[in-house]
Amino acid sequence: MEMDKVSRRAESFFHAISEEYYLSSSGLKEESNLSEIYDEYQDLCSKDIINSLIEQNSANGADRQRSQMLEFLHSLYQGFLTRKGSDELLRLEATSTLNIAGEVIPYRQAPVILKNESNREKRKLIQEAVHEIVERDNPKRLEMLQTVHRTADEFGYENYSELVEDVSGINLTDFLVLCEEFLSKTEDMYTDVATWAFRKHLNISLEEATTYDSTYLFRMTEFDDYFPAADLLPRVDKFISSMGLDMKVGGNITFDTESRPLKSSRAFCAPISVPDRIMLVIMPQGGLSDYQSFMHELGHAMHYAHTDHTLPMEFRYLGDNSVTESFAMLFDHLTLNANWLKKIAEMTDPKNYLLMANLLELYMLRRYCAKFIYEKELHGNTDIADIPDAYSSILTEATKIDCKPVNYLNDVDSEFYCVRYLRAWMLQSLHNSYLIEEFGEDWFLNPETGGKLKELWHYGQKLNAEEMVKIVSTEKMNFNNLIGSIKEAFNG
Ligand SMILES: [Zn+2]
Repeated sequence: MEMDKVSRRAESFFHAISEEYYLSSSGLKEESNLSEIYDEYQDLCSKDIINSLIEQNSANGADRQRSQMLEFLHSLYQGFLTRKGSDELLRLEATSTLNIAGEVIPYRQAPVILKNESNREKRKLIQEAVHEIVERDNPKRLEMLQTVHRTADEFGYENYSELVEDVSGINLTDFLVLCEEFLSKTEDMYTDVATWAFRKHLNISLEEATTYDSTYLFRMTEFDDYFPAADLLPRVDKFISSMGLDMKVGGNITFDTESRPLKSSRAFCAPISVPDRIMLVIMPQGGLSDYQSFMHELGHAMHYAHTDHTLPMEFRYLGDNSVTESFAMLFDHLTLNANWLKKIAEMTDPKNYLLMANLLELYMLRRYCAKFIYEKELHGNTDIADIPDAYSSILTEATKIDCKPVNYLNDVDSEFYCVRYLRAWMLQSLHNSYLIEEFGEDWFLNPETGGKLKELWHYGQKLNAEEMVKIVSTEKMNFNNLIGSIKEAFNG
């Protein structure tokens, strides 16, 4: 197939898959059927098409556009081989229920119920029932993982980790060192503050704490009054328009705010056509995590909606997702910005809130570093029989919270997406420093900030994270900035 045709087909695949995702997650359609879409685009999902791009790269030298397409085709091929399993898992998740002392709870609602349940015994029962279902479906997940791992073999890589490293161009071995260093540098401050927080709020020691405790602790209900559902959209609109930006980007972003029974309670963004048809779906519930997830998705939507429409599809849809995630995180991290909290969330003294919110930030960073270290083992040469225990020990060691082996396949991001998040975390902190330097501590209220953000968003994903860093900083991507701001909040 000609390169132009591949690009056109890939763009049309994106429309189809994003539309399907939008309709099923917004509750406009009952069941999602990804297999049908993959079958319709079978011509894109083959070894031959990947091999022909590899040949073109070796004959003409690797070019960015072709390399981004090659990475996408690998991902598409893996998605195609596991399409039936994915649909089956989605169906099982949507239809499973838990029976908790006579009360029937839909499996998908369990995480929401768990984080709002103050009774520890009840949380334990819910968690155990969830784990039974995860265990039940693990053979299906393992089968899919093995299918994905076999593609590494097919293309002559020693393991799946090597395949991802090669097609993404990210040096995973160097990144592993950064994550290990981060864990050791933040070990003591994390243990101190986490010990204090579990004792103060749950009256348990850190040694006793399990995942059903951390999920409740980090719900942070005591600060709900600062994040009311009714104020979410007007408050966000206030700072977005203060920066000289339009939340709807001249009609490129459509807000879906209607309430529907099957609508996802978590905000999400579906880029059906970049830049001119971006769906932003929201059902405001209130609370910190609702604000964070809406602002995160708005960051994605603004990035997509401001992408230069003349760029080839490879630079509008594909590429290094650390970049789009960095703009999403730049916005959700405003919930950690003392000035934003005072001026937008109307918090007079954010000190206590900032201590807990930064503990959550550090917990999440340590969890993601551990997830990557674990996933590197999962996709490397470690014997699969040792993998569930490796998951449990690596995650427990980093978070100090008892993580059961059962989630060893469930708690995995495909294609090392956790690395994109971690790179985005670093990149957003550099964006933030840059905006403070150029536009002041209140950059989110400065009418000049909008123009600069538009300039950065305009690139879409033509630049990777390393290239984006060069525009905003003289530093390299690392955890230093993040450690600095967490320390500051802890020392209050
Ligand atoms: Zn995101």
